[in-house]
Amino acid sequence: MSLVIYNTLSREKEPFLPLDPAHVRLYVCGPTVYDYVHIGNARPVVAFDVLYRLLKRRYGRVTYVRNITDIDDRIIVRAADNKETIEALTTRTGDAYQSDMRRLGALPPDHEPRATGFVGQMIALIERLVGNGHAYAADGHVLFSVPSMPDYGRLSRKPRDELIAGARVEVAPYKKDPADFVLWKPSTEAQPGWESPWGRGRPGWHIECSAMSGSLLGETFDIHAGGLDLIFPHHENEIAQSRSAFGTATMATYWMHNGFLNISGEKMSKSLGNFFTVHELLDQYPGEAIRLLLLSAQYRQPLDFTHEGLTQAKATLDRWYGVLRGKESSPSADVPSGVEDALSDDLNTPLAIAAIHQLGEPAALRAGGNALGLLQQDAEAWFRWSPAGTSGPTDTEIEAAIAARQAARKAKDFKESDRIRDDLKAKGVILEDGSKGTTWKRG
Ligand code: AMP
Ligand code: ZN
Repeated sequence: MSLVIYNTLSREKEPFLPLDPAHVRLYVCGPTVYDYVHIGNARPVVAFDVLYRLLKRRYGRVTYVRNITDIDDRIIVRAADNKETIEALTTRTGDAYQSDMRRLGALPPDHEPRATGFVGQMIALIERLVGNGHAYAADGHVLFSVPSMPDYGRLSRKPRDELIAGARVEVAPYKKDPADFVLWKPSTEAQPGWESPWGRGRPGWHIECSAMSGSLLGETFDIHAGGLDLIFPHHENEIAQSRSAFGTATMATYWMHNGFLNISGEKMSKSLGNFFTVHELLDQYPGEAIRLLLLSAQYRQPLDFTHEGLTQAKATLDRWYGVLRGKESSPSADVPSGVEDALSDDLNTPLAIAAIHQLGEPAALRAGGNALGLLQQDAEAWFRWSPAGTSGPTDTEIEAAIAARQAARKAKDFKESDRIRDDLKAKGVILEDGSKGTTWKRG
Protein backbone atom coordinates (compact mmCIF):
# COMPACT_ATOMS: atom_id res chain seq x y z
CA MET A 1 0.00 0.00 0.00
CA SER A 2 1.36 3.42 -0.83
CA LEU A 3 2.14 5.82 1.96
CA VAL A 4 -0.39 8.52 2.77
CA ILE A 5 0.39 11.26 5.28
CA TYR A 6 -1.59 14.11 6.76
CA ASN A 7 0.00 17.37 5.68
CA THR A 8 -0.58 20.31 8.02
CA LEU A 9 0.02 22.67 5.05
CA SER A 10 -3.07 21.40 3.19
CA ARG A 11 -4.94 20.07 6.26
CA GLU A 12 -5.46 16.90 4.24
CA LYS A 13 -4.12 13.40 3.86
CA GLU A 14 -1.92 13.25 0.76
CA PRO A 15 -0.02 10.51 -1.03
CA PHE A 16 3.67 10.72 -0.17
CA LEU A 17 5.67 11.68 -3.26
CA PRO A 18 9.34 12.30 -2.47
CA LEU A 19 11.24 15.05 -4.32
CA ASP A 20 13.87 12.40 -5.14
CA PRO A 21 12.75 8.78 -4.64
CA ALA A 22 16.43 7.79 -4.50
CA HIS A 23 16.95 9.98 -1.45
CA VAL A 24 14.20 10.85 1.03
CA ARG A 25 14.95 13.67 3.49
CA LEU A 26 13.33 14.16 6.89
CA TYR A 27 13.83 16.78 9.63
CA VAL A 28 12.36 16.62 13.14
CA CYS A 29 12.72 19.42 15.69
CA GLY A 30 14.42 18.11 18.80
CA PRO A 31 14.29 19.39 22.36
CA THR A 32 15.93 22.27 24.15
CA VAL A 33 18.27 20.56 26.58
CA TYR A 34 18.53 22.09 30.03
CA ASP A 35 17.35 19.09 32.05
CA TYR A 36 16.04 15.57 31.48
CA VAL A 37 13.30 15.57 28.83
CA HIS A 38 9.74 14.55 29.77
CA ILE A 39 7.80 11.72 28.18
CA GLY A 40 5.78 14.25 26.12
CA ASN A 41 9.02 15.30 24.41
CA ALA A 42 9.58 11.63 23.56
CA ARG A 43 6.31 11.41 21.62
CA PRO A 44 7.60 13.07 18.41
CA VAL A 45 10.85 11.09 18.70
CA VAL A 46 9.04 7.74 18.90
CA ALA A 47 6.28 8.57 16.39
CA PHE A 48 8.68 9.82 13.72
CA ASP A 49 11.07 6.96 14.41
CA VAL A 50 8.26 4.68 13.17
CA LEU A 51 8.09 6.89 10.07
CA TYR A 52 11.87 6.69 9.60
CA ARG A 53 11.74 2.89 9.83
CA LEU A 54 8.94 2.80 7.25
CA LEU A 55 10.75 5.15 4.84
CA LYS A 56 13.91 3.05 5.17
CA ARG A 57 11.95 -0.06 4.19
CA ARG A 58 10.55 1.65 1.10
CA TYR A 59 13.30 3.88 -0.22
CA GLY A 60 16.95 3.23 -0.95
CA ARG A 61 18.34 6.14 0.97
CA VAL A 62 16.83 8.20 3.76
CA THR A 63 18.55 11.06 5.56
CA TYR A 64 17.02 11.81 8.92
CA VAL A 65 18.08 14.92 10.87
CA ARG A 66 16.92 15.49 14.45
CA ASN A 67 18.53 18.46 16.12
CA ILE A 68 19.40 19.29 19.70
CA THR A 69 18.81 22.91 20.71
CA ASP A 70 21.67 23.85 23.00
CA ILE A 71 21.35 27.66 22.78
CA ASP A 72 18.41 29.10 24.70
CA ASP A 73 17.78 31.56 27.50
CA ARG A 74 16.39 28.75 29.69
CA ILE A 75 19.78 27.07 29.37
CA ILE A 76 21.60 30.25 30.42
CA VAL A 77 19.38 30.59 33.51
CA ARG A 78 19.70 26.91 34.49
CA ALA A 79 23.49 26.85 34.12
CA ALA A 80 23.73 29.91 36.39
CA ASP A 81 21.40 28.27 38.95
CA ASN A 82 23.48 25.10 38.88
CA LYS A 83 26.73 27.09 39.02
CA GLU A 84 28.09 25.19 36.05
CA THR A 85 29.14 26.24 32.57
CA ILE A 86 26.61 26.18 29.75
CA GLU A 87 28.75 23.66 27.94
CA ALA A 88 28.92 21.32 30.93
CA LEU A 89 25.13 21.55 31.34
CA THR A 90 24.20 20.96 27.69
CA THR A 91 26.77 18.21 27.18
CA ARG A 92 25.35 16.33 30.16
CA THR A 93 21.66 16.89 29.35
CA GLY A 94 22.15 16.37 25.60
CA ASP A 95 23.93 13.07 26.22
CA ALA A 96 21.24 11.97 28.71
CA TYR A 97 18.56 12.77 26.12
CA GLN A 98 20.31 10.67 23.47
CA SER A 99 20.73 7.76 25.85
CA ASP A 100 17.08 7.94 27.01
CA MET A 101 15.84 7.99 23.39
CA ARG A 102 18.02 4.97 22.57
CA ARG A 103 16.46 3.16 25.51
CA LEU A 104 13.04 3.90 24.01
CA GLY A 105 14.18 2.04 20.91
CA ALA A 106 14.60 5.12 18.70
CA LEU A 107 17.15 4.55 15.95
CA PRO A 108 19.91 7.14 15.94
CA PRO A 109 19.14 9.72 13.23
CA ASP A 110 21.67 10.12 10.40
CA HIS A 111 22.60 13.54 11.81
CA GLU A 112 21.94 14.85 15.28
CA PRO A 113 23.34 18.39 15.08
CA ARG A 114 23.71 20.61 18.12
CA ALA A 115 22.83 24.24 17.35
CA THR A 116 26.15 25.55 18.70
CA GLY A 117 27.90 23.69 15.87
CA PHE A 118 26.00 25.70 13.22
CA VAL A 119 26.26 29.32 14.33
CA GLY A 120 28.45 30.18 11.30
CA GLN A 121 25.72 28.86 8.98
CA MET A 122 23.07 30.82 10.91
CA ILE A 123 25.04 34.06 10.49
CA ALA A 124 25.46 33.34 6.76
CA LEU A 125 21.72 32.77 6.40
CA ILE A 126 20.88 35.99 8.26
CA GLU A 127 23.35 37.92 6.07
CA ARG A 128 21.54 36.60 3.03
CA LEU A 129 18.18 37.73 4.42
CA VAL A 130 19.54 41.19 5.18
CA GLY A 131 21.09 41.29 1.69
CA ASN A 132 17.86 40.49 -0.13
CA GLY A 133 15.63 42.80 1.89
CA HIS A 134 13.87 40.22 4.07
CA ALA A 135 15.61 41.26 7.28
CA TYR A 136 17.01 44.41 8.87
CA ALA A 137 19.41 45.23 11.67
CA ALA A 138 18.26 47.51 14.47
CA ASP A 139 19.75 48.17 17.85
CA GLY A 140 22.09 45.16 17.87
CA HIS A 141 19.21 42.92 16.80
CA VAL A 142 18.41 41.53 13.39
CA LEU A 143 14.73 41.05 12.63
CA PHE A 144 12.87 39.22 9.93
CA SER A 145 10.52 41.56 8.10
CA VAL A 146 7.16 39.78 8.02
CA PRO A 147 5.57 42.24 5.52
CA SER A 148 8.39 41.32 3.09
CA MET A 149 6.75 37.92 2.61
CA PRO A 150 3.27 38.18 1.07
CA ASP A 151 2.19 34.63 1.95
CA TYR A 152 3.53 34.56 5.50
CA GLY A 153 1.14 32.58 7.72
CA ARG A 154 0.21 29.83 5.25
CA LEU A 155 1.07 26.97 7.58
CA SER A 156 -0.73 28.20 10.69
CA ARG A 157 -3.47 29.99 8.72
CA LYS A 158 -3.55 32.66 11.36
CA PRO A 159 -5.13 35.99 10.47
CA ARG A 160 -2.84 38.99 10.83
CA ASP A 161 -4.34 40.20 14.13
CA GLU A 162 -3.52 36.83 15.68
CA LEU A 163 -0.01 36.87 14.28
CA ILE A 164 0.78 39.96 16.26
CA ALA A 165 -1.39 39.17 19.30
CA GLY A 166 1.58 38.01 21.32
CA ALA A 167 3.75 40.91 20.26
CA ARG A 168 1.12 43.63 20.65
CA VAL A 169 1.23 44.08 24.39
CA GLU A 170 4.69 45.53 24.38
CA VAL A 171 6.20 45.89 20.94
CA ALA A 172 9.96 46.23 21.10
CA PRO A 173 10.91 49.71 19.84
CA TYR A 174 13.36 48.34 17.28
CA LYS A 175 10.62 46.43 15.40
CA LYS A 176 9.33 48.05 12.20
CA ASP A 177 6.25 45.80 12.26
CA PRO A 178 4.83 44.19 15.40
CA ALA A 179 4.88 40.75 13.70
CA ASP A 180 8.61 40.91 12.89
CA PHE A 181 10.63 38.30 14.76
CA VAL A 182 14.19 38.04 16.00
CA LEU A 183 16.92 36.33 13.98
CA TRP A 184 19.83 37.59 16.07
CA LYS A 185 20.06 39.34 19.43
CA PRO A 186 22.88 41.02 21.33
CA SER A 187 24.59 39.29 24.27
CA THR A 188 25.96 40.94 27.37
CA GLU A 189 29.44 40.02 28.58
CA ALA A 190 27.90 37.49 30.96
CA GLN A 191 25.79 35.85 28.23
CA PRO A 192 27.17 33.42 25.67
CA GLY A 193 27.80 35.12 22.36
CA TRP A 194 29.42 34.87 18.96
CA GLU A 195 31.03 37.62 16.90
CA SER A 196 28.83 38.67 13.98
CA PRO A 197 28.45 41.58 11.53
CA TRP A 198 25.94 43.01 14.06
CA GLY A 199 28.22 42.71 17.06
CA ARG A 200 28.59 40.02 19.67
CA GLY A 201 25.32 38.16 20.06
CA ARG A 202 23.41 34.92 19.74
CA PRO A 203 20.83 33.48 17.34
CA GLY A 204 17.07 33.37 17.83
CA TRP A 205 15.51 29.91 18.10
CA HIS A 206 13.85 29.69 14.67
CA ILE A 207 16.98 30.41 12.63
CA GLU A 208 18.71 27.40 14.20
CA CYS A 209 16.47 24.89 12.42
CA SER A 210 16.58 26.75 9.08
CA ALA A 211 20.39 26.67 9.19
CA MET A 212 20.69 23.04 10.26
CA SER A 213 18.09 21.71 7.83
CA GLY A 214 19.45 23.83 4.97
CA SER A 215 23.01 22.65 5.60
CA LEU A 216 22.24 18.97 6.10
CA LEU A 217 19.22 18.38 3.84
CA GLY A 218 19.24 21.18 1.30
CA GLU A 219 17.10 24.19 0.44
CA THR A 220 13.97 22.06 0.03
CA PHE A 221 13.33 18.62 1.43
CA ASP A 222 10.47 16.16 1.93
CA ILE A 223 9.17 16.10 5.49
CA HIS A 224 9.48 18.45 8.42
CA ALA A 225 7.93 17.33 11.70
CA GLY A 226 7.49 18.18 15.36
CA GLY A 227 4.81 18.71 17.97
CA LEU A 228 1.59 20.64 17.43
CA ASP A 229 2.86 23.57 19.51
CA LEU A 230 5.60 24.21 16.95
CA ILE A 231 3.25 25.13 14.06
CA PHE A 232 3.21 28.73 15.25
CA PRO A 233 5.49 30.55 15.57
CA HIS A 234 8.42 28.12 15.17
CA HIS A 235 7.58 26.36 11.92
CA GLU A 236 5.89 29.38 10.37
CA ASN A 237 9.08 31.34 10.97
CA GLU A 238 11.38 28.57 9.77
CA ILE A 239 9.42 28.58 6.50
CA ALA A 240 9.67 32.38 6.22
CA GLN A 241 13.44 32.32 6.79
CA SER A 242 14.32 29.39 4.53
CA ARG A 243 12.05 30.31 1.63
CA SER A 244 13.08 33.96 1.71
CA ALA A 245 16.78 33.15 1.95
CA PHE A 246 16.76 30.53 -0.80
CA GLY A 247 14.04 32.00 -3.00
CA THR A 248 12.06 28.75 -2.97
CA ALA A 249 8.31 28.11 -3.08
CA THR A 250 8.43 25.56 -0.26
CA MET A 251 10.78 24.59 2.54
CA ALA A 252 9.43 21.08 3.00
CA THR A 253 6.69 19.38 0.99
CA TYR A 254 4.99 17.76 4.02
CA TRP A 255 4.57 19.15 7.51
CA MET A 256 3.64 16.61 10.18
CA HIS A 257 2.64 17.44 13.75
CA ASN A 258 2.05 15.15 16.67
CA GLY A 259 -0.69 15.77 19.23
CA PHE A 260 0.02 16.30 22.89
CA LEU A 261 0.70 13.79 25.56
CA ASN A 262 -1.66 14.89 28.33
CA ILE A 263 -1.86 14.17 31.99
CA SER A 264 -5.35 14.42 33.54
CA GLY A 265 -6.46 16.13 30.33
CA GLU A 266 -3.75 18.81 30.43
CA LYS A 267 -0.70 19.10 28.20
CA MET A 268 2.35 17.69 29.94
CA SER A 269 4.90 20.47 30.19
CA LYS A 270 7.85 21.64 32.21
CA SER A 271 6.22 24.99 32.92
CA LEU A 272 3.07 23.42 34.41
CA GLY A 273 5.20 21.05 36.47
CA ASN A 274 2.93 18.10 35.56
CA PHE A 275 5.60 15.96 33.98
CA PHE A 276 7.48 12.69 34.30
CA THR A 277 10.96 12.50 32.84
CA VAL A 278 11.78 9.60 30.55
CA HIS A 279 14.82 9.05 32.73
CA GLU A 280 12.80 8.38 35.90
CA LEU A 281 10.19 6.27 34.08
CA LEU A 282 12.93 4.04 32.68
CA ASP A 283 13.72 3.07 36.27
CA GLN A 284 10.18 1.80 36.71
CA TYR A 285 9.21 0.38 33.32
CA PRO A 286 11.07 -1.25 30.43
CA GLY A 287 11.76 1.15 27.54
CA GLU A 288 9.56 -0.90 25.20
CA ALA A 289 6.56 -0.53 27.53
CA ILE A 290 6.95 3.26 27.46
CA ARG A 291 7.30 3.11 23.70
CA LEU A 292 4.20 0.93 23.28
CA LEU A 293 2.17 3.37 25.37
CA LEU A 294 3.35 6.25 23.15
CA LEU A 295 2.29 4.32 20.05
CA SER A 296 -1.09 3.25 21.44
CA ALA A 297 -2.77 6.33 19.94
CA GLN A 298 -2.34 7.59 16.39
CA TYR A 299 0.30 10.33 16.53
CA ARG A 300 -2.07 13.23 15.75
CA GLN A 301 -4.52 12.30 18.51
CA PRO A 302 -4.15 13.43 22.10
CA LEU A 303 -2.85 10.68 24.37
CA ASP A 304 -3.38 10.46 28.11
CA PHE A 305 -0.42 9.44 30.21
CA THR A 306 -1.22 7.10 33.12
CA HIS A 307 0.77 4.58 35.12
CA GLU A 308 -2.01 2.04 34.45
CA GLY A 309 -1.39 2.59 30.74
CA LEU A 310 2.27 1.72 31.22
CA THR A 311 1.44 -1.35 33.31
CA GLN A 312 -0.98 -2.50 30.60
CA ALA A 313 1.64 -1.91 27.91
CA LYS A 314 4.10 -4.05 29.86
CA ALA A 315 1.47 -6.82 30.18
CA THR A 316 0.90 -6.73 26.40
CA LEU A 317 4.63 -7.11 25.79
CA ASP A 318 4.79 -9.94 28.36
CA ARG A 319 2.21 -11.74 26.24
CA TRP A 320 4.06 -11.15 22.95
CA TYR A 321 7.41 -12.13 24.42
CA GLY A 322 5.68 -15.20 25.87
CA VAL A 323 4.86 -16.28 22.30
CA LEU A 324 8.49 -15.78 21.28
CA ARG A 325 9.98 -17.47 24.31
CA GLY A 326 11.78 -20.71 23.51
CA LYS A 327 10.74 -20.43 19.84
CA GLU A 328 13.33 -17.97 18.68
CA SER A 329 13.54 -17.36 14.97
CA SER A 330 14.69 -14.43 12.88
CA PRO A 331 12.01 -12.00 11.73
CA SER A 332 10.25 -12.77 8.47
CA ALA A 333 11.55 -10.76 5.53
CA ASP A 334 8.37 -8.77 5.10
CA VAL A 335 6.41 -6.85 7.67
CA PRO A 336 2.98 -8.57 7.90
CA SER A 337 0.57 -6.78 5.56
CA GLY A 338 -1.92 -5.85 8.28
CA VAL A 339 0.82 -3.96 10.09
CA GLU A 340 2.33 -2.38 6.97
CA ASP A 341 -1.05 -1.26 5.64
CA ALA A 342 -2.00 0.34 8.96
CA LEU A 343 1.27 2.27 9.11
CA SER A 344 0.92 3.34 5.47
CA ASP A 345 -2.26 5.18 6.41
CA ASP A 346 -0.70 8.16 8.18
CA LEU A 347 1.04 5.93 10.75
CA ASN A 348 -2.05 4.30 12.23
CA THR A 349 -0.14 2.66 15.07
CA PRO A 350 -3.19 1.52 17.12
CA LEU A 351 -4.41 -0.40 14.07
CA ALA A 352 -0.89 -1.81 13.58
CA ILE A 353 -0.87 -2.95 17.22
CA ALA A 354 -4.27 -4.60 16.73
CA ALA A 355 -2.82 -6.41 13.70
CA ILE A 356 0.17 -7.60 15.77
CA HIS A 357 -2.28 -9.09 18.30
CA GLN A 358 -3.53 -11.36 15.51
CA LEU A 359 -0.08 -12.80 14.80
CA GLY A 360 0.79 -16.18 16.26
CA GLU A 361 3.96 -16.98 14.32
CA PRO A 362 7.18 -15.90 16.05
CA ALA A 363 8.82 -14.77 12.77
CA ALA A 364 5.82 -12.63 11.80
CA LEU A 365 5.52 -11.26 15.33
CA ARG A 366 9.16 -10.19 15.30
CA ALA A 367 8.74 -8.51 11.91
CA GLY A 368 5.57 -6.69 12.99
CA GLY A 369 7.31 -5.62 16.19
CA ASN A 370 10.33 -4.36 14.25
CA ALA A 371 8.15 -2.02 12.23
CA LEU A 372 7.12 -0.36 15.49
CA GLY A 373 10.58 -0.63 17.05
CA LEU A 374 9.24 -3.20 19.54
CA LEU A 375 10.22 -6.80 20.35
CA GLN A 376 13.85 -5.79 19.84
CA GLN A 377 15.30 -8.04 22.51
CA ASP A 378 15.76 -11.63 23.40
CA ALA A 379 12.64 -12.99 25.16
CA GLU A 380 14.72 -14.28 28.08
CA ALA A 381 16.30 -10.86 28.54
CA TRP A 382 12.83 -9.28 28.53
CA PHE A 383 11.63 -11.49 31.38
CA ARG A 384 14.77 -10.78 33.40
CA TRP A 385 14.03 -7.06 33.57
CA SER A 386 13.41 -5.62 37.01
CA PRO A 387 12.73 -2.07 38.20
CA ALA A 388 15.68 -0.09 39.52
CA GLY A 389 16.36 -0.45 43.20
CA THR A 390 14.60 -3.83 43.48
CA SER A 391 16.28 -5.89 46.11
CA GLY A 392 16.43 -9.54 45.19
CA PRO A 393 18.78 -12.02 43.65
CA THR A 394 20.96 -10.97 40.71
CA ASP A 395 20.85 -12.85 37.39
CA THR A 396 24.02 -14.73 38.39
CA GLU A 397 22.57 -15.73 41.77
CA ILE A 398 19.37 -16.94 40.09
CA GLU A 399 21.30 -18.99 37.58
CA ALA A 400 23.45 -20.49 40.34
CA ALA A 401 20.28 -21.43 42.26
CA ILE A 402 18.79 -23.04 39.14
CA ALA A 403 21.98 -25.06 38.66
CA ALA A 404 21.85 -26.17 42.32
CA ARG A 405 18.20 -27.17 41.87
CA GLN A 406 19.13 -29.12 38.75
CA ALA A 407 21.82 -30.97 40.70
CA ALA A 408 19.37 -31.71 43.54
CA ARG A 409 16.84 -33.10 41.06
CA LYS A 410 19.48 -35.25 39.45
CA ALA A 411 20.34 -36.60 42.89
CA LYS A 412 16.57 -37.16 43.42
CA ASP A 413 16.62 -34.76 46.37
CA PHE A 414 13.21 -33.31 45.51
CA LYS A 415 12.79 -31.74 48.90
CA GLU A 416 15.86 -29.60 48.24
CA SER A 417 14.88 -28.82 44.64
CA ASP A 418 11.41 -27.69 45.77
CA ARG A 419 12.94 -25.62 48.55
CA ILE A 420 15.14 -23.79 46.02
CA ARG A 421 12.15 -23.15 43.74
CA ASP A 422 9.99 -21.85 46.61
CA ASP A 423 12.83 -19.71 47.91
CA LEU A 424 13.21 -18.06 44.48
CA LYS A 425 9.45 -17.60 44.25
CA ALA A 426 9.44 -15.81 47.59
CA LYS A 427 12.06 -13.49 46.11
CA GLY A 428 9.88 -12.76 43.07
CA VAL A 429 11.52 -15.15 40.60
CA ILE A 430 9.34 -17.67 38.82
CA LEU A 431 10.80 -20.84 37.31
CA GLU A 432 9.27 -22.62 34.35
CA ASP A 433 10.40 -26.11 33.41
CA GLY A 434 10.16 -26.81 29.70
CA SER A 435 11.49 -29.29 27.18
CA LYS A 436 14.63 -27.20 26.72
CA GLY A 437 15.38 -26.81 30.42
CA THR A 438 14.39 -24.31 33.03
CA THR A 439 13.67 -20.68 32.21
CA TRP A 440 12.88 -17.92 34.69
CA LYS A 441 11.30 -14.54 34.93
CA ARG A 442 10.90 -11.80 37.46
CA GLY A 443 7.22 -11.75 38.35
P1 AMP B 1 10.71 21.62 23.32
O1 AMP B 1 11.99 21.24 24.00
O2 AMP B 1 9.71 22.29 24.23
O3 AMP B 1 10.96 22.41 22.04
O4 AMP B 1 9.99 20.28 22.88
C1 AMP B 1 10.60 19.30 22.05
C2 AMP B 1 9.55 18.58 21.26
O5 AMP B 1 8.58 17.95 22.13
C3 AMP B 1 8.73 19.47 20.32
O6 AMP B 1 8.52 18.77 19.11
C4 AMP B 1 7.43 19.68 21.07
O7 AMP B 1 6.36 19.96 20.21
C5 AMP B 1 7.26 18.32 21.72
N1 AMP B 1 6.40 18.34 22.91
C6 AMP B 1 6.53 19.12 24.02
N2 AMP B 1 5.57 18.82 24.94
C7 AMP B 1 4.80 17.83 24.40
C8 AMP B 1 3.67 17.08 24.87
N3 AMP B 1 3.13 17.26 26.07
N4 AMP B 1 3.16 16.14 24.05
C9 AMP B 1 3.71 15.90 22.84
N5 AMP B 1 4.77 16.56 22.34
C10 AMP B 1 5.33 17.51 23.11
ZN1 ZN C 1 12.82 23.49 14.73
